Amino acid sequence: MSPAAGGYSASGYGASGYGDGTRCVHAGQPPTERGAPFLPGPTFAAPYHLGGAPGGAPGGGPGGRTAGGYDYGREDNPTWRRYEAALGELEGGDAVTFGSGMAATVAVLLTTARPGGAVVLPADGYYSVRTLAAERLAPLGVTVRLVHTAGPVSDSDLAGAALLLLETPSNPGLDVSDIAAAAEVAHRHGVPVAVDNTTATPLGQRPLELGADYSLASDTKAVTGHSDLVLGHVAARDPDRVAALRRWRTLAGAVPGPFEVWLAHRSLGTLDLRLARQAQNAAALADLLAGRPEVVTAVRYPGLPTDPAHPAAVRQMRRFGGVLSFTLPSEPAVAAFLAAARLVADATSFGGLHTTADRRARWGGDAVPPGFVRLSAGCEDTADLVADVGAALDAVTDQATTPR
Ligand code: PLP
Repeated sequence: MSPAAGGYSASGYGASGYGDGTRCVHAGQPPTERGAPFLPGPTFAAPYHLGGAPGGAPGGGPGGRTAGGYDYGREDNPTWRRYEAALGELEGGDAVTFGSGMAATVAVLLTTARPGGAVVLPADGYYSVRTLAAERLAPLGVTVRLVHTAGPVSDSDLAGAALLLLETPSNPGLDVSDIAAAAEVAHRHGVPVAVDNTTATPLGQRPLELGADYSLASDTKAVTGHSDLVLGHVAARDPDRVAALRRWRTLAGAVPGPFEVWLAHRSLGTLDLRLARQAQNAAALADLLAGRPEVVTAVRYPGLPTDPAHPAAVRQMRRFGGVLSFTLPSEPAVAAFLAAARLVADATSFGGLHTTADRRARWGGDAVPPGFVRLSAGCEDTADLVADVGAALDAVTDQATTPR
């Protein structure tokens, strides 16, 4: 357990038996103390007073701090520890916070990959991971293999591999990997498994319980959920893996700021509430979109009973989340949709309070048609959102049928 966790989280990995809402509100908060602030503020510190403590080496000391205290701000911070305790409670492991989702992904890749070995990555996942692997890992002698999220992962994919990274549901296509099945095959080959859990969040899916060795996420998305932070984390159970991640963070300097982490912990308190509304809105919008085949095709949402990924999603997901995707006939059709929608912002990223839509082909990294849209359902009232998106689809239909 995180030594600085204290109080609520000291009970162990989710052993409290409380529900998601209770755990989100209380996880990682220190024990109560007469006269102390109800909630602790952020700790801003570069160096800490050493007080004559022996040992420790700023910039590379084992474990990040000398016995009994904090030493240096790149190694450790009490605000990080509280947030990590909260994430660890939700993930069912020990969590390490990073300055972004990419910093978290890179920490897993660089603490496992080795020259002459292979890493197996999602062919249809977040494209910057593929770019990083092609630009930085391949030239160092790491073989990069790509496997589609829907799988299955084969023996030949895993031969000589140092890591299998899954991303489920995948961004942006929202396909689903069977985590338990993939972990079973990978472990037979001695290959550790990491799951990018960004779209699901630890409330939607617990990869470590399904057999994964790492659960990582961009906390920029639903975990913090207010579209104002860039953060990431990795959770694992094996103490050696956790120690390696902490050491990587210290040496690479992939650290978050204490104020951002404090805001993230504050945001985490409402994760259960936000996700419940987002999932309700996403399900309603998926139904609406699936009922408009004259203008909308290829609706994907793991919670939609007709979705090809639904059976796998039902087996391993605890909730289906707030992200869905669909295809409009063309780029101008998406422009007409966004111009007509009053409650759908034209923005990338996902998981925030506000409903947003992203025409992914604009970025060039994903194999998607020009009219492909990833939509992130926000926390607006369901009836308002359904009415707004319905009217925006009408505008697309009108545009298509208006003579020019
Ligand atoms: N993983 C997934 C699935 C993502 O969608 C993203 C960002 O969009 C990342 C990782 C990277 O996260 P960040 O932007 O916080 O570095």
